[in-house]
Amino acid sequence: MAKIAVFPGSFDPVTLGHVDIIRRGVPLFDKIVVAIGVNAQKTYTFSLEERKRFIEESFKDFPTVSVVTYEGMTVDLCRKLGAQFLLRGLRNATDFEFEKAIAQTNHELTGIESVFLLTAPNTSYISSSIVRDVIKNGGDYSLLVPDSVRVK
Ligand code: ADP
Repeated sequence: MAKIAVFPGSFDPVTLGHVDIIRRGVPLFDKIVVAIGVNAQKTYTFSLEERKRFIEESFKDFPTVSVVTYEGMTVDLCRKLGAQFLLRGLRNATDFEFEKAIAQTNHELTGIESVFLLTAPNTSYISSSIVRDVIKNGGDYSLLVPDSVRVK
């Protein structure tokens, strides 16, 4: 059976931290589906189309990586796609505590296995929220994101 992993997040915008986790996931899975969650309660800096395009452009040379958008529960998306795994990145203890509760709940309720990759040392400080702050304040964000992320 093909090993399919979903990598869920907001990706507002995708960062070099996300890119590192996806690239390192490529040899582990037959397919990785990057899943951009849509939450009607949240406001985003980048539109859904922009967030999707940034990731697609970064991974255009990776045939096993695709991008979808979704609403609702991540485990429902996994079921729909036939994905047995969730891919997540871990930066620090806060990520660990948060992810632990979610992963244990998902496993208990659906059997989906979460696979965690530890952040690379050179990208561990990067988060989408810091990138958004840098952008809002007119700073140079180019070292934090892939080339596909362009602010109009
Ligand atoms: P959220 O789910 O809070 O919207 P993101 O879209 O920023 O989060 O992130 C999705 C996934 O990417 C999460 O598993 C998160 O831990 C991981 N991630 C984000 N930034 C990094 C980084 N710099 N290094 C490793 N993993 C990261």
